[in-house]
Amino acid sequence: MIGLLKSMATTMKHALDGKTFTVEYPEEAPEVSPRFRGIHKFSQERCIWCRQCEKVCPNDTIQIVTDDKRQGEQYNLHVAQCIYCRLCEEVCPVDAILLTENFEFTGDTKHDLVYNKEQLGNVPWYKDIDPLAAREPDRGAWVGEGDGEVDYQ
Ligand code: SF4
Ligand code: SF4
Repeated sequence: MIGLLKSMATTMKHALDGKTFTVEYPEEAPEVSPRFRGIHKFSQERCIWCRQCEKVCPNDTIQIVTDDKRQGEQYNLHVAQCIYCRLCEEVCPVDAILLTENFEFTGDTKHDLVYNKEQLGNVPWYKDIDPLAAREPDRGAWVGEGDGEVDYQ
């Protein structure tokens, strides 16, 4: 009985202290942890088409297509297959893939969320996400445009 009263007192104390830990989504956007892993963005400008991201991805979310000279031709992303393990970001030698804090997308089937790099540039929930707002790659280690704009599509 005493335990019950104590737990009720604790509940009432927290219920009445005015602090809230939830937000009324989607009216209010929740703050996510800096370590949150959301959908990733790709930069063709930075990519050297080494295909390491494709090889390391455990479930074929990324598909790289190159020509017979191993020049990059296409980057396909099967968004609904991603498990946000972040291996692709970690393995990429040039920060051409960065995970963002975005989790706001839906589709009726996983086939609705398959895009190539040209299509990604026109996807409303995707195209304006800035991955550099969530991630801070060591741009001092980049060859070339360490200080400039980077086009992540
Ligand atoms: S986060 Fe993991 S599952 Fe998603 S694309 Fe990268 S390697 Fe694949
Ligand atoms: S690991 Fe990075 S550089 Fe290599 S193909 Fe993937 S995105 Fe491009």
